[in-house]
Amino acid sequence: MNIIDIITKKKNSEILSKEEINYFVANINEIEKCQISALMMAICINKMTDNEIVDLTLAMADSGDKLDLSMFENCVDKHSTGGVGDKVSLVIAPIVASLGCNVCKMSGKGLGYTGGTIDKLESLGMNMQLLEEDFIKQVEDINICIMSQTKNIAPADKIMYAVRDITATVESTGLIAASIMSKKIASGAKNLIIDVKVGTGAFMKDIESAKELAKMMKRIGELTGMKVKCILTNMDTPLGCAIGNKLEVKEAYEILDNKGDSSLREICITVAANMISITKDIDYETAKNEVLEVLNKKIALEKFKKFVEYQGGTLDNLDNENVNKKEIFAQSTGYISKIDALSIGKLSCSLGAGKLKLDDKIDYDAGVVLNKSINEYVEQGDLLLTLYSKKEIKTDINFKDIINISDSKVNVSLIHEII
Ligand code: URA
Repeated sequence: MNIIDIITKKKNSEILSKEEINYFVANINEIEKCQISALMMAICINKMTDNEIVDLTLAMADSGDKLDLSMFENCVDKHSTGGVGDKVSLVIAPIVASLGCNVCKMSGKGLGYTGGTIDKLESLGMNMQLLEEDFIKQVEDINICIMSQTKNIAPADKIMYAVRDITATVESTGLIAASIMSKKIASGAKNLIIDVKVGTGAFMKDIESAKELAKMMKRIGELTGMKVKCILTNMDTPLGCAIGNKLEVKEAYEILDNKGDSSLREICITVAANMISITKDIDYETAKNEVLEVLNKKIALEKFKKFVEYQGGTLDNLDNENVNKKEIFAQSTGYISKIDALSIGKLSCSLGAGKLKLDDKIDYDAGVVLNKSINEYVEQGDLLLTLYSKKEIKTDINFKDIINISDSKVNVSLIHEII
């Protein structure tokens, strides 16, 4: 068996055997990057069968360490396929940890224009590089720990992802399903809610491909004894009002303090209630009432404070003072009909909230605040956006292309489907 024959088979739309997939993953460190990239491109174009996707996922999950979380009852995890302004994990983790579930979560850094939970928590000074024993001890003590994924969890995915990221081969349903699920299997997930983002600011641009991805991830979960539910949510518009690390933590704090943006609150409640429902095996309405109670009584907020403090962070400096600020105003009058998530994500990145090059340093205060939301009425001259950055803010963007103002309101669906 050799890699050239495997690439040739996929190039000719043939089905790879389990042995061939295992050979590729087992030898990935020795295979040339251009060969990995050729195979990824052939998979993107000619696709994989369900059996190939399952075989690839299992081989990738077996490529490194596996975390054993069997000592914890009611262990629950949540994953997002990545979006703009997505701070849902920061809100739901303390909610479900206040309700008798154990949140043992490994998260990632931002990818491209999408933000990452690790960067957001690091903006508070929290230590995200923990030893496995400290991770377990923290969950025993306060039922919640989020840490950076260790180097040896699905290492084959790291190599494949780095190649995919620079060869236009990220957007393949099979490769995304294998990438996400291999990491979840290796990090010991038992009950998992996946927020599948759909729209301009997401990897899945349309509902049909998001559904296909959701069904595939559910199937892999079933085959590996994991309970998986996928919530398809809108990512044409950024989620909530804040985009950028510290700005997003501040907004997450407001939701836990029972204030804040209503669309963000609705998605957080839906995700948290589904997590409780599958983990405790109770019906959704009962779970939702439990979630509302810990929000209303601010019990989840107290859990969040404890979690930040336990990992060495502070919530004392949430206001981004001492940074440059630029305000953008409406050029016409009407209803806000579009706030393009992809453009806002890229803008936030260019202000310093994300990395443009591998060795860039993140500016935790940088980002964008949306001062208006979809379907809100604005007059010409009203404040639309506020940009923040430590560097001088120069933009040659035509904001009319990013934020559309129309004569009438538009129909938007926040949650498309639950699978
Ligand atoms: N998130 C992942 O972890 N992997 C992908 O391939 C895409 C999104």
